[in-house]
Amino acid sequence: MTPDEAMGRALELAADAAGWGDTPIGAVVLGADGAVLAEAANEREKVGDPTAHAEVLALRAAARVHGDGWRLTGATLVVTLEPCTMCAGAAVLSRVDRVVYGARDPKAGAAGSLWDVVRDRRLNHRPEVVAGVREEECGALLRAFFRSKRGL
Ligand SMILES: [Zn+2]
Repeated sequence: MTPDEAMGRALELAADAAGWGDTPIGAVVLGADGAVLAEAANEREKVGDPTAHAEVLALRAAARVHGDGWRLTGATLVVTLEPCTMCAGAAVLSRVDRVVYGARDPKAGAAGSLWDVVRDRRLNHRPEVVAGVREEECGALLRAFFRSKRGL
């Protein structure tokens, strides 16, 4: 699966999250060969866990099947919204090769917008970042969700 196709799947997962009342964010982890290792949606409200972001859930699930302990060497994290500081940190710690995201998050993004935790030169592992993949679709889903929450 290409990162673009994986983003399509992440968008479906994001829509699922909106269905159960969570902010629509979805994530897919691809192995080095492009096969899907794991996928997840935001479950913060669903399970009442402040750390249950789509990226963290997907990285955890990917590590369970990847076969190299906690390391996700060669993997790509694909997510509909720019990762926050926690998720950017998790991406670095999991040693993924690449982080691909859709919509930018100027208010909390930690992969180039507000911070750049993923490519901080002081870290010895810096995943490659590809921003803005299917950005319009990813942003539109979030905007529609917040619009409906405000009852507009
Ligand atoms: Zn996060």
